[in-house]
Formats: sequence, structure tokens, C-alpha cells
Amino acid sequence: MLENIRVILSHTTHPGNVGAAARAMKVMGLSKLGLVNPKRYPSAEATERASRATDILASAQVSSSIEEAVADCRLIVGTSARTRSLPSKLITPRELTEIIQQNPERYPVALLFGTENSGLTNEELHMCHYHVCIPTNPEYSSLNLASAVQLIAYELRLAFAEFDVPSQRITENEVPITREQLNGVLQHFDQVMRHTGYIQPQQEKQINIRMNRLLSKADITQSEMNILRGFLRSVLNYCDKHKSNK
Ligand code: SAH
Repeated sequence: MLENIRVILSHTTHPGNVGAAARAMKVMGLSKLGLVNPKRYPSAEATERASRATDILASAQVSSSIEEAVADCRLIVGTSARTRSLPSKLITPRELTEIIQQNPERYPVALLFGTENSGLTNEELHMCHYHVCIPTNPEYSSLNLASAVQLIAYELRLAFAEFDVPSQRITENEVPITREQLNGVLQHFDQVMRHTGYIQPQQEKQINIRMNRLLSKADITQSEMNILRGFLRSVLNYCDKHKSNK
């Protein structure tokens, strides 16, 4: 299971934190690291702080956008020191391991860590199915980035290192869609809503944010996606036919 979990660090500003996060991962048996637009990377400081985990740095996937980093993921989990005003369910690191155990078909799992100063952006927060908050002192709640990676990686190790979760047999149609497929559905809705005149330009952003939240919560499977997209296609066809009949 640990090999299906990807740690994604978004817009890190200190290369030392990237190295320290790689080390924190390796001691707990995690190996997949994703970096979204890291500042000053590759860097000697990152390599030094990684100690003997430089293999993790060497194989890290660097992307230019969060969308690209999570495109193939089926479970996206944010991490945050904040407990208020988060758009989806707040869980502890232990609850995260239970969710992963109960949903063995939802992999790869992306764990998103935000930039050192301000944490995850709104765009990143809105694409997460859950948010993990490590319980800390409410008066001083923000951990160093690599320390947060360490604590969550430790919980994952406790839950998954000793045994492999037997993967449930599910049919291809019931596999959850990936983030990239979800984007396809969202774009399709956007296209239809524009075509029918439902979206007014001034509401566009709000509607897109809410549709993203709604469809992320729905945990859409492949067969459900086929129904939604088939329906949306039929709406467009109907509109075209109606227009030419006028
Ligand atoms: N002020 C920012 C803190 C950023 S710390 C915020 O409120 O989120 C950098 C990153 O470390 C965070 O984005 C998060 O990924 C992780 N982190 C820090 N403290 C955490 C905590 N208590 N629980 C979960 N993740 C935490």
C-alpha cells in the first residue's frame, strides 16, 4: 500500500525542507515524491538534508501545476494546520489510514502539503476529498513542513508496513475516476452550461468552484462518468437539432 501513496509538496520555498521531507518519507517506507513548482530546486541544500534518501529526490516527479501532479490520483487529501473554513471533511492522520484501508480501489493516493508560509492555495484546497490536520497546540499549531510529512508518514507506517491490505475485487466499471477524468466531466458541464445560457459570465467562477466540490464529493465511478457524459452529449445534440429546426 505504501507504494501507492504519493507525497506532493506544493511551491516549497526552502530546498532544505524538500530534502528533509524525502528523508522523513524514506525512514517510513514511502518513496513517491511529487514537487509542484519548487523554488530553488535541484539544490545542494536539498541533497544534504536528504541524507541517504537522495534516491527519493532523484526519482521525484516535478510538475508545473497541481492538476498535472494529481491527474492520475483517485484519492486526494490535503494537509493543513488550519481547522476552520476548509471546504471538505477534516480528519486526523489515524482516520486517514482507516479511509485508505476502507477504500483500497482508490489509489494512487495524493497527500498534498502546502507552501511554508501560507499553506495550500484555495485551488488546492478545493480539489481535496479530505483534509488531515495533525492535532497540535491550538495556540501554536503550524508544524515545519518536513515534520508534518514525518508525522503522517509514521501513521501510515503503523497502519500499512506490517501487512498488505488485500485488494477488494471490483469490476472495472466500479473503479473511481481519476482527477484528470473528473476535470473532463467538469469541462463537459461547463460547455453545456455555457451552451444553454445557464452560466452568466459574472457567476462563472462561483459555479465552477461549487461544481468541482459537488462532483468531488460524489466519488464518481467509471460507469457513472459514462452516464453523466452521455447525458451531457445528448443535451448538446438536442440543442443543435433544435437550433437547426428553427
Ligand atoms: N500557515 C500555514 C502553515 C503552512 S506550514 C497553514 O495554515 O496551513 C506548511 C505545510 O505543513 C502546510 O501547508 C501543511 O501541509 C503542513 N502542516 C503544518 N502543520 C500542520 C498540521 N498541524 N497538520 C497538518 N499539516 C500541517
